[in-house]
Amino acid sequence: MFGREGICAVVAAKQPGAMARQLREARRETRLVELRLDWLASEHKIVRFLGRLRRRPRHHARVALIATCRRREAGGQFAGTVAAQLALLRLASECGCAWVDVEIETAERLRQGALRRLSGSAHVIVSFHDFRRTPSDLTVVLRRLKRAGGNAFKIATQCRTISDSLRVLSLARRGRCIVAVPMGEMGLPARILALRAGSAIAYAALENATAPGQISLVEMKRLYRAEKLDRRTRVYGLIGDPVSHSLSPRMHNAGFHVRGINAVYLPFLVRDLRDFLHAIEPLGVAGFSITLPHKEAILRLLDDCDALAAAIGAVNTVVVRGGGKLYGYNTDYVGVLRALEQRISLAGSRVLIFGAGGAARAVAFALAQGGAAVSICARRAHRANSLARAMGGEAIERRELRREFFDAIVNATPVGMHPHEDRSPLSAAELNCRLVFDLIYRPQKTKLLQLAERRGIETVSGVEMFLAQGTAQWEIWTGERAPVAAMRRSVLAALRDERRWRDRE
Ligand code: NAP
Repeated sequence: MFGREGICAVVAAKQPGAMARQLREARRETRLVELRLDWLASEHKIVRFLGRLRRRPRHHARVALIATCRRREAGGQFAGTVAAQLALLRLASECGCAWVDVEIETAERLRQGALRRLSGSAHVIVSFHDFRRTPSDLTVVLRRLKRAGGNAFKIATQCRTISDSLRVLSLARRGRCIVAVPMGEMGLPARILALRAGSAIAYAALENATAPGQISLVEMKRLYRAEKLDRRTRVYGLIGDPVSHSLSPRMHNAGFHVRGINAVYLPFLVRDLRDFLHAIEPLGVAGFSITLPHKEAILRLLDDCDALAAAIGAVNTVVVRGGGKLYGYNTDYVGVLRALEQRISLAGSRVLIFGAGGAARAVAFALAQGGAAVSICARRAHRANSLARAMGGEAIERRELRREFFDAIVNATPVGMHPHEDRSPLSAAELNCRLVFDLIYRPQKTKLLQLAERRGIETVSGVEMFLAQGTAQWEIWTGERAPVAAMRRSVLAALRDERRWRDRE
């Protein structure tokens, strides 16, 4: 009856016409669609939209429709009374909706059996939402839903930690008629893994997200392939704060897809490393990438670490080995070398690094290892001095840059990164070199690279390092050669899309 239904596209719009258009689009992608009737601008518009459904049944043939008309009291947009809500849901059932979703706040007001009668021939999902937190005892919540009646039970709660999201997921194992929805950015990996965990449905927005952390249908289906994930799927991911901007999921999932590897790469928003580490075993995490601010802190929590990563003092890649043992690497190092070696011969060259943070450290060690003489310039002289001392280079003051010549200059500061694209960390007069390498990859062509090009200097974008460090991670995890061309294509396509969006704004 209510088996594993799959991804449900959520259709939500103010106008009946827009809602109908979204429904047509959703139908091309999935067999299950939720109609958020409460999003329509008035009761009159809801009736008009439902009338349209009734008149054109072939528009939703082969699609199971879930009608939702959530009241404001339960976090929805419907301002009418309970009686009006139930009348509309009844009408939705008569117009072809196979399911109606009734929130617990409404369901508990009804007498025993009334829910089924009111919903007509449609099945009923009784739903519980908490947009602030995940209650400490979800079993109590589930019992409450079951007492209210209905054919299926949905629990959607805001996850403040990854442990919260695991608790929501664990409900999915309690029966085929349970829908587990971990909400919020912390809950995103669990939201994507919900079907695998046994949830009957995973929701994804067609256009407008109707709940915190809800991702688009395209991402759910094509990027994460949520319906295809099973118990054997190896889980990888990026941990950091923030992570939502990262292109790593695009890059790594493209690699898995092209090679036909049963694995998925997810963005984990992590504030507390231990909270994430507890999720490794239950989620089946086989490896992860690390970004700011955890690259150094993770070192203390590893079982072992590559000698190079230990020398750099930062880890950006972890492999989970047998017994849950964590082994760390630094592929930023490899990324720098791969990005630069094809352009200049490092041995005997003179390279300036501008900036003395985490990335500068990996760059400095990589260049020194490649045989370059490294100079460091940073706005805080003591940081430049200490990095220069650690890797056997020299610190240089900013005012000397106009007089000095380098084979390459590397920008290891975030100056010029989106949304401050009009800034350059260095002026044109300070670019006395043959090549400029900007670690920033958003935008692909930074202001610094534009200045360099105008002076006839060769340029390398941070995209090259991003791809090189990512493909090196992929190879460590899979033991196979990475499909570099496919991974590059997916990253460049994402950057192109972003540029288009920005130009339109
Ligand atoms: P970080 O640890 O925060 O270090 C940033 C460095 O830039 C510090 O030395 C900081 O100086 C300096 N800085 C910041 N704002 C500045 C300003 N307005 N003027 C002069 N110096 C400034 O960051 P990170 O991890 O090293 O990352 C640096 C950049 O590299 C970021 O844009 C990041 O996206 C990029 N990156 C790219 C890749 C890739 O694969 N392409 C990989 C890693 C990093 P203070 O210490 O004085 O604050």
